[in-house]
Amino acid sequence: MQDQNRRGEISVTTEHIFPIIKRWLYSDKDIFLRELVSNASDAITKLCRLRSLGETEAEGEGGRIDVVLDESAGTLVVRDNGIGMSAEEVERYLNQIALSGALEFIERYEGEGETTDGIIGHFGLGFYSAFMVASRVEVLTKSHTSAPAVLWSCTDAGVFEMKEAQRDGCGTDVILYLTEDEREYLKREKCAAILEKYCSFLAYPIYLSTDSDEGEEAPINETEPLWMKSPSAITDDEYREFYHKLFGYRSEPLFWVHLNADYPLNFKGILYFPRLNNQFDSMEGEVKLFYNRVFVADNISEVVPEYLLSLKGVLDCPELPLNVSRSFLQNSPYVAKLSAHIAKKVADKLSELFRGERERFESITLDLRPFLQYGAIKDEKFFSRVKDLILFECVDGGYVSVSEYLSSAEDQKIYYTTDKTRQAQYVKLLTDEGRRVILFESVMDTQYASLIERGEEGVSFVRVDSDPESLKETDAETDETLVKLFCEIAGEGSVVECVRLKDETTPALFVTEENARRMEEVLRMYRARGGEEMPPMPKQEKLLLNLASPVFEKIKGNGERAEVLARQVYYTALISSRALTAEELSAFLENNHRLMNF
Ligand code: ADP
Repeated sequence: MQDQNRRGEISVTTEHIFPIIKRWLYSDKDIFLRELVSNASDAITKLCRLRSLGETEAEGEGGRIDVVLDESAGTLVVRDNGIGMSAEEVERYLNQIALSGALEFIERYEGEGETTDGIIGHFGLGFYSAFMVASRVEVLTKSHTSAPAVLWSCTDAGVFEMKEAQRDGCGTDVILYLTEDEREYLKREKCAAILEKYCSFLAYPIYLSTDSDEGEEAPINETEPLWMKSPSAITDDEYREFYHKLFGYRSEPLFWVHLNADYPLNFKGILYFPRLNNQFDSMEGEVKLFYNRVFVADNISEVVPEYLLSLKGVLDCPELPLNVSRSFLQNSPYVAKLSAHIAKKVADKLSELFRGERERFESITLDLRPFLQYGAIKDEKFFSRVKDLILFECVDGGYVSVSEYLSSAEDQKIYYTTDKTRQAQYVKLLTDEGRRVILFESVMDTQYASLIERGEEGVSFVRVDSDPESLKETDAETDETLVKLFCEIAGEGSVVECVRLKDETTPALFVTEENARRMEEVLRMYRARGGEEMPPMPKQEKLLLNLASPVFEKIKGNGERAEVLARQVYYTALISSRALTAEELSAFLENNHRLMNF
């Protein structure tokens, strides 16, 4: 065919395109291979579609992609047995469409430089990205129709040649003559690593071979990625195995959510909630973004709500445009919907686990709670979905949610301890009274408590050492002499009060009113962050003398014995409320010696 033998220059506007492509994204040249393999995969899909419609005569062999490295010839070939192209199609697709696509891409992003590098590098500039590494590219292609095969050859000066050629069967070979600088792409390890990163889940087997290869060949990819399968056909072990394959064996998934949204969102994925082995483990998750099974980018935090960032997994979003930047993701209404959908699915999955497997849910509650609480604080909708799933451990065993706790309590008070050893005495006083006490493990618990208090009228969280009310039998008449004696022992500014507790074995205890203590904590944090010095707050703790204890019978009068006993009562109360200072400890020991000598 005469007009098939052509020679020409690609176009005036393309004068600068090759130098630009060459300079393009030095940091991420690897993507050329992904682009060519994706094109190969698309070409096979197109042929399969035609075949299923009965619109082609081409042989019905299974699709496959070959990446062939030849060190001696200096070539890298990407071969497919897909739809192929006729001369007209080469003209249209490569000389016009692909080129204008590349031009548009470059116009859009050139000059944005390094700021967009992180993500742009992951998105394609198509066929012409081959010129990032090659000085000449040949395309040997045979259409599935009866049109003859064509060899298109183009140099990095933008000069192409096209002529009729021979090729067995339909499909396309893209042959890259690598530049001297880029010969590392002829190394098997290098290409294997790139293919594994980007093409591990492509739908057709990809075989990598070199000129020195002999013997067995195996595809480097898994042609049916787990997220494309139906959840009901997947076992728990398969989910775990997939997780390990993607993220290594360092952590275990606690649970996972298989996403399968059709209309209007159309995306698939599997998100895992990892178990953090210790507090030094990174809480940062990792969501790998795919576009029709082709890996696009790591750590796309924009598509997951911030509070679920410790999720790890894969999302396959064929709806996202290819040329996408971080700012696009941040402002896209589609991404916002995607993110809301993910939050809802995670909450649904947790409710399901909570209802169906309470014991298992409890066993992972400590790992989950901080994230749920953080999410609840950040997102009201999420809060309403998960508030009954946030469980606290009780000191006497078992786990309760806030609503479960309140449904069995006489009032709206929820007692908690931040240190069950240190606060054991207070805990005992309450549990002896039949009260449940829950354990607070982190600052997040305290913040979450405030969130509940703001949202639910009348509910209050009370630390065990804050509230004598529930322990009080009656108010006691003030014994001025006792109060004076204890004020002297406790030092200036102390507040001493007489009460009568239900429990008579505890002679005295310190309490700090809940709100006053929280205020103190806020101030302490403020100062720790380098905030301005403020005048010290008046002492907030109160010493309660429990006149129900028989010991006060012995602390009558002003004798030495009364004073030694009173000191003993004071230090015992102090020990059950906090660690003693060095001076307090030696004063306490000295008092013990005095006591022994009576
Ligand atoms: P895109 O793949 O985004 O359309 P490309 O620049 O990569 O852009 O390719 C342009 C066009 O060239 C493709 O749309 C396709 O029609 C054609 N093409 C590229 N590679 C192949 C191939 N291996 N087999 C058949 N057609 C191809």
